[in-house]
Amino acid sequence: MATPLIFERPEQAVLAVDGENAAFPIRRVYCVGRNYADHAREMGHDPDREPPFFFTKPADAVVPGSGEVAYPPATRDLHHEIELVVALKGGGRDVAVEDAMGLVYGFAVGVDLTRRDLQGEAKKMGRPWDMAKGFDQSAPCGPLVPIGKCGDMATGEIGLSVNGTVRQKGDLAQMIWKTPEIIAYLSHLMHLRPGDLIMTGTPEGVGAVARGDRVEGWASGLPGVDFRLV
Ligand code: MN
Repeated sequence: MATPLIFERPEQAVLAVDGENAAFPIRRVYCVGRNYADHAREMGHDPDREPPFFFTKPADAVVPGSGEVAYPPATRDLHHEIELVVALKGGGRDVAVEDAMGLVYGFAVGVDLTRRDLQGEAKKMGRPWDMAKGFDQSAPCGPLVPIGKCGDMATGEIGLSVNGTVRQKGDLAQMIWKTPEIIAYLSHLMHLRPGDLIMTGTPEGVGAVARGDRVEGWASGLPGVDFRLV
């Protein structure tokens, strides 16, 4: 018999699947840093093809990218980063680039909300990014679309507007590390499992948002995000 739990099991974080009465259970959320050259430059870095680097968010940081999202505490500089989100239905270690797309369940578009002031301080002090990146509700995401319906999402527009003004606009083809390469690289660092999400980096144009702002994000062929910060 299983050992009884001292309190009820915490709720499983899930992501909706577009058009289906089913949800994708989230295990982990991996995020790629500086994966578009223009964004690397705007953050003060040289975008030559240095190996990808990763940080994580807790699974329950993922919230629906519709309705209202809470403006987080302890920041005066909350930034939007629109990103393609890859959802894994398979796992493994040391996955070959040629095999990587076979692990993919589908794609969504999400926002890597970032407390940029805390991130700047962490960079300066050589401290971790967790409090800048992994706070509550820091990953509003649209519903997932199975790969059979949306394709491999290797190209297509990705963008974000705030109160109707376009702030970020790029193309998925500009990703320095492509989806299969990211999966392969990450699988050398971690044993990937079904339920893992990967946020694949943001194009240029990141900037601050305020309470009351309406944030809309899109990637071609996927249902977008559309939420208000409250
Ligand atoms: Mn990001």
